[in-house]
Amino acid sequence: MLWTLAALFFGWLALREIRASRVPRRGYSQTRPVYKPYLFLCIVLSALSAWQPIQYWRFERLLSSKATQLADGRVADVHCNSVFDTMMDSEQFAAGHANIDTGHIVFQHGWCASLMDYVAAPQRARPEAFFALHLFTHESMHVRGERNEAQTECQAIQRDVRAAMLLGVPEAVARKQALDFYLDSYMSRREQGWMSAQYFSDQCAPGKAMDEVLSDSTWLPLYQQVD
Ligand SMILES: [Zn+2]
Repeated sequence: MLWTLAALFFGWLALREIRASRVPRRGYSQTRPVYKPYLFLCIVLSALSAWQPIQYWRFERLLSSKATQLADGRVADVHCNSVFDTMMDSEQFAAGHANIDTGHIVFQHGWCASLMDYVAAPQRARPEAFFALHLFTHESMHVRGERNEAQTECQAIQRDVRAAMLLGVPEAVARKQALDFYLDSYMSRREQGWMSAQYFSDQCAPGKAMDEVLSDSTWLPLYQQVD
């Protein structure tokens, strides 16, 4: 928001400078020539200020399109919250949230940046960075129509590889990180408190009740162990 306002402000200064060369300013009888270094500076500052909002806008469009694919065609609309948005958000303590009826997905401030960083360099991502990707898959599953958190989480676990690949992560990297996340982070929740427990089920495993037997499932390599 602040960057957008700054871009508009510097753009307005540039336009004002051009206008002053064509129309006399109030209280003056003559126009004055454009001061080129000043005009150049205003245009550069406006472009630099606009860079981040444009980058986020494009990323939101990309995430909306991929979330719609993950949600089996139910239209998703992803929004990256600014600091101000997060402060005003009634669910500010959740990393993200989704509205099943409208398809609106919100990432709290910082999580879109984490996901952007992850997508830009997935090979170098730390395990925590993968959570941003998993958050994206999780909220997409809500838009797909699931309200129950344990079910949503398990559907997301099974589609994390798909989600990462949709965002351009190489398959080998996506498969390793998604399986590690399932085996380490997800499985550790059974020993954690009730908050984590509502996002966990012992039926979320290959061959168990929540297994959707997806052809590209995250836990594909584990079927051999089950057999
Ligand atoms: Zn949820």
